Amino acid sequence: MKRFAVLQLSGCAGCEVSLINADEWVDQFKLVYMPLVISAYDVPDVDVLLISGGVRTDEDLYKLRQAVKRAKQVVAVGTCAISGGVANLGDRDEVRELFLAGTQRLHVPRLLPKSHPVDTYVPVDLYLPGCPPTSELFMAVLQENRDFQASKTVCQECGRKKLRDMRPEHLVGFRQGRVLPDICLINQGYLCVGSSTRGGCRAPCTRAGHPCVGCRGPSDAFIEQESEVWLKSIKRVFSSMTDVPEAEIDEALRSPQLALFLFQFSDYASGDRLVRPKEKVL
Ligand code: SF4
Ligand code: SF4
Repeated sequence: MKRFAVLQLSGCAGCEVSLINADEWVDQFKLVYMPLVISAYDVPDVDVLLISGGVRTDEDLYKLRQAVKRAKQVVAVGTCAISGGVANLGDRDEVRELFLAGTQRLHVPRLLPKSHPVDTYVPVDLYLPGCPPTSELFMAVLQENRDFQASKTVCQECGRKKLRDMRPEHLVGFRQGRVLPDICLINQGYLCVGSSTRGGCRAPCTRAGHPCVGCRGPSDAFIEQESEVWLKSIKRVFSSMTDVPEAEIDEALRSPQLALFLFQFSDYASGDRLVRPKEKVL
C-alpha cells in the first residue's frame, strides 16, 4: 500500500481539510504523518510527500529540508506552498512590526526575512494548485491518475454563458446585488478572472455565484510567462466584454476585494519567481 505524508508549513490547514474530504484514499493509501490528525514526531519514509503552506519561519525551512530526504515524490500543494499564499501577509510591514514588537516570543519560531514558496529551497516533482485544491484533485495526485484532464480554464467548467449585448459600465463589487443564474459574471459586472485561470476545480465558486479569484493560478497559456502577461490578459477580457474604464479594473485588481488574488500570488509580484514547467502542474 502506498504510504504518504502531509507536511504542514505556514498555512491555514484548508488543504488538509480538503484532503480529508476525499475519503476514498482511506482504503487505498496509508497516511503516516499529518500533524492535524496524526501524532508523529517526524516524517517517516514515504512514497509521496504532500507539502502545504509556505516557508515562513526557520522551523518551516528545517522541517522541509528534513522531510524531502524521506520521500520518493514531492508534491507542492496549494497556493501557499506554490506561490506564497496567506503566509505572505507576514511580509507586510505592519504585520512584521506587530509580530516583532511582541514581548512573549518564547518558543515561537523565528520569521525568515521573507516568505518563500517551497521550490525556492527543494526540488518539487509535481504542483497541485488551488486554495484549497479540491478533493478530486488530491485523488488524481495520489492515484497518479494520468487520465485526469483539467480543462484549460475555469470558464470551460463554469457553465455560465457569455453574452455580447450585456456590457456593464461599472463593476458592482465583490458580492453585491442579485446574481443572475447561467449568465457570465463579467456580463453582470463582477470581477471574475476565470478566463485565464487554470481549470480542474470544476468552478465551484462561479457556479455558486461568486467570481473566480484565480486560486488555481494561471492557465497553461500564462504559467510560464511574466505576471504582467497574465494581468494584461485579464484586462483584455474586461475591455472586450464590458465598458468599464480600464482604471477602474486596475484599481479593483489591486483593491482589498481581490486581496486574496494579490497576496496569494505574491511570488509573481516579487520578480524572483521560479518558472514552473506546465507539465509539472496538475
Ligand atoms: S468569466 Fe467567470 S463567470 Fe464568466 S464564464 Fe468565465 S468563469 Fe464563468
Ligand atoms: S472557481 Fe476560481 S477561485 Fe474558485 S476554486 Fe476554481 S480557480 Fe479557485
